[in-house]
Amino acid sequence: MYDIIVIGCGPAGMTAAIYAKRAGKKVLILEKEGIGGQMASAPLIENYPGFSSIIGSELAERMFEQITDLEIEVEIEEVKDIKEDKIKKVITDENVYETKSIIIATGGKYRMLGLEKEVELIGSGIHFCTACDGPFYKDKKVAVIGGGNSAVAGACMLSNIAKKVYIIHRSKKLSADYIEIEKLKRKKNIEILLETNVKELLGDKELKGIILENGETLTIDGMFVCIGLVPQNKFCENILERNKQGFIISMDTKTNIPGIFVAGDCREKKGKQITIAVSDGTQATIEALTFLEETK
Ligand SMILES: Cc1cc2nc3c(=O)[nH]c(=O)nc-3n(C[C@H](O)[C@H](O)[C@H](O)COP(=O)(O)OP(=O)(O)OC[C@H]3O[C@@H](n4cnc5c(N)ncnc54)[C@H](O)[C@@H]3O)c2cc1C
Repeated sequence: MYDIIVIGCGPAGMTAAIYAKRAGKKVLILEKEGIGGQMASAPLIENYPGFSSIIGSELAERMFEQITDLEIEVEIEEVKDIKEDKIKKVITDENVYETKSIIIATGGKYRMLGLEKEVELIGSGIHFCTACDGPFYKDKKVAVIGGGNSAVAGACMLSNIAKKVYIIHRSKKLSADYIEIEKLKRKKNIEILLETNVKELLGDKELKGIILENGETLTIDGMFVCIGLVPQNKFCENILERNKQGFIISMDTKTNIPGIFVAGDCREKKGKQITIAVSDGTQATIEALTFLEETK
């Protein structure tokens, strides 16, 4: 029986496990794919304190080194279901584990446009996070795809760095909140192109431009696909409260079920960043330790 099972081996999950193990708890991490989560695919990270610039996979390896040094158990198995009781059960594609508490840190996946070369050009002109990669485009031309809050707020942020910003949105109207659209109206270097979408990506090793469905060709240096992040937590949809987009609702990382906690990108909150995931991981374990103490 484990004290804490952490689901997901991204920055949130690894931090949670480090805190749990150092508090003397029996802890297991379950990860379905690879170590590091989304962070491992970040071409260059320049906003994680302690490193002016580090490749995502290297930061992931460094965090994982700490997991190995602490001899934390890790199994590569996909969690399919969790059962809630005094002793909780975590059901994977291979095993059933028993635990006193669970921390869900399963992150999310950015929605993509589904275009040819889109995956190959990630980091070479195609990005998802304006706060992370916007500073690479000082005085350059960029496009933001999407019309919601993250696209509009991201475009406003980029307009302070880039020379020109296009917002491309497939609908007649931007769907962002009034306050975000008001901020956008004050920007002189943003052009909004509605009722169209990206049809083709130009450039082989680096993005050079895009062709739109309306026939227009835009020469740009970078494109930010801001059409949402899909949380990976379907396996707990029957027992945990989630918002309309599927993010788990929590109070200080505590979910609606005592003993089940949530950390990182799969939690309902504003920012989706490594520093926030790490902070959530710490908070979730602090809450889990309190729960274990109170239910001893
Ligand atoms: C290309 C790219 C570049 C980025 N650049 C930056 C940057 O420069 N700076 C920054 O701060 N942020 C950046 N981010 C965002 C950052 O990586 C995320 O905010 C962060 O990784 C979230 O951490 P997490 O632990 O919550 O989730 P994730 O990193 O998503 O990790 C979740 C883990 O859970 C696993 N998992 C999911 N479902 C299951 C299941 N059922 N069973 C078992 N395991 C499961 C996943 O496989 C994954 O490994 C970037 C993201 C991307 C995609």
